[in-house]
Amino acid sequence: MKKIMELSLKKCWVGETEKIVYDTREEAEVAAKVAEYDHGGKFGVYKCEYGDHWHLTSLSH
Ligand SMILES: [Zn+2]
Repeated sequence: MKKIMELSLKKCWVGETEKIVYDTREEAEVAAKVAEYDHGGKFGVYKCEYGDHWHLTSLSH
């Protein structure tokens, strides 16, 4: 069984929003797929302008 290690998730403040940090694009893309499955809609990944890591963004609406 694969479990997301929530304790190890890093966070980054982007404006007023605290976002989960992904170290690699691959990791973020996997998380985007999971988010699409869990929440529906479409998610994309982008490189953070404040650090060397990646975030998810919702592409729907
Ligand atoms: Zn960031």
